Amino acid sequence: MSDDEGGICGTCGLPQDLCVCETIAQEEARITVTVERRKWGRLTTVIEGFDKNIELGDLATKLKGKLACGGAAKHGHIELQGDHRGVISDVLAKMGFPEEMVQIDWTFQSRGRR
Ligand SMILES: [Zn+2]
Repeated sequence: MSDDEGGICGTCGLPQDLCVCETIAQEEARITVTVERRKWGRLTTVIEGFDKNIELGDLATKLKGKLACGGAAKHGHIELQGDHRGVISDVLAKMGFPEEMVQIDWTFQSRGRR
């Protein structure tokens, strides 16, 4: 009888308790947060720069739950409906992405033409 095979990391082949893939992935990540105006003037927060090892679908689901907004993971980045720059670094920090890793682009201002 072998040990539980679910305990082996599929990326590095080490047991999960020795695996550092996720830690490495998070340490190497340089996450940028920008806000764009989309169709019909909708604001969208775009979060990109996650390491490929990170499950963006899972992360998007968690972010949508925390921020109570719509959104999706697309082609290596996450889009969230609305402007979440004020809280996103806090939320990401609680998920294991330290604030110093997260760069927020404040150049877009949502005020202006209505
Ligand atoms: Zn691993």
